[in-house]
Amino acid sequence: MQVTFLGATNTVTGSKFLVNFGDKKILVDCGLFQGLKEYRMRNWVKFPIDPKKIDAVVLTHAHIDHSGYLPLLVKSGFSGKIYCSHATKDLCAILLPDSGYLQEEEAKFANKHGYTKHRPALPLYTREDAEQSLLQFRPLELKKSYKIGDDIHMSLIPAGHILGATFIQFKYRDKTLLFSGDLGRPNDPIMHAPAIIQAADYLVLESTYGNRLHNHNVNPLDELAEIINRTVSRGGTVIIPAFAVGRAQHLLYLIYELKRTNRIPNIPIYLDSPLAKDATQIFRQYHDLHRLNPELSQKVCEIATYVNTKEESKALDLELFPKVIISASGMLEGGRVLHHIRVFAPDAKNTVVFAGYQASGTRGADMIQGKREIKAFGETIAINADVHVLSNMSAHADYEEILEWLSHFNHHPKKIFITHGEPDAAQSLKQKIEERFDWTCHVPDYLQTEMLS
Ligand SMILES: [Zn+2]
Repeated sequence: MQVTFLGATNTVTGSKFLVNFGDKKILVDCGLFQGLKEYRMRNWVKFPIDPKKIDAVVLTHAHIDHSGYLPLLVKSGFSGKIYCSHATKDLCAILLPDSGYLQEEEAKFANKHGYTKHRPALPLYTREDAEQSLLQFRPLELKKSYKIGDDIHMSLIPAGHILGATFIQFKYRDKTLLFSGDLGRPNDPIMHAPAIIQAADYLVLESTYGNRLHNHNVNPLDELAEIINRTVSRGGTVIIPAFAVGRAQHLLYLIYELKRTNRIPNIPIYLDSPLAKDATQIFRQYHDLHRLNPELSQKVCEIATYVNTKEESKALDLELFPKVIISASGMLEGGRVLHHIRVFAPDAKNTVVFAGYQASGTRGADMIQGKREIKAFGETIAINADVHVLSNMSAHADYEEILEWLSHFNHHPKKIFITHGEPDAAQSLKQKIEERFDWTCHVPDYLQTEMLS
């Protein structure tokens, strides 16, 4: 058995791990690189191995940095099955075509306004490519063992994080290999805690927050109430860039709670993302996979006005009264939220609130580091609005929560590969695991192959 790290090394994006079981090749996750140009360029170069030679893909969850390269893999000749949970499949069915659409739009916009170095600018893949890739999905039940080749058994085990997210556990001969995907949190208000795992011979572990602790003393409800009230009192609007899957539903839940307890005025709440609207529907459908019962899910979903068309979205920018707009993408990498940022961020009475991880090199990361202008649509946008980061909203375990999850292993891994973190986060988690448990950890490099014997 061997694993090759084709992404999520020293960065949180582009998750892709190729596992060889004898001559069988399985790709675990197939994510897009996002953020820094150095990484994004990797989406455009030839795939390190011939996609035709990959037997199957398995996805840990639907986030684009774990699934968004699939349409291109299929376009380049991958014809095998794509395994994942049912909810992941349903979420990919909306996320991937949307990703293709956004890339077509971006290319069109760049061509129209002439700010591309490549003429004409082309999309990485189209909506149609994405729809094509959906035909290869084969959803599996959670916690069941499936034989996917000689001596290869695979199970999907709930990981918290977002709807449908799982660990992937392989049993090959007498060895087990576990991929954490993105590890959720034990006390997430919406998602269940990640499953407890007690044994693995090898573990590929994420480290997004490997060097940080979430501020457990801060209640996001208090923080959000304060931000909304302050902004409304000066007649401003609150813009919340949010991932359509996960964050958007969590925010709706918080705002529902704030309105129910009369802690914020009865201002309009807009969910301006057709994708988030569809994701919210799927969230309601799979109520056994999260903590909100069907009745509460419905109430939470009804707190927002859903904005469907582009015209309706643009009309929001002309409304002068205070409101909250939740819109994708979560790291300001594209989508409708950028148009709202262009209109609202230059005015000091407004507030921009970040609720999720901002990968370095993204406009979101620039803003939370205090940059007072960002570039979008080939122009410079002044940031005079207040900028906040909600402190305890993450869907990723922090390092204490990761260590706590690891503490349940009674047969500890021979080696842990630390991935999906910026360099400091990965190194710091390695150190912490070595100090606390004295287990062997390794932070792999891009394209590195490791034998697992
Ligand atoms: Zn994720």
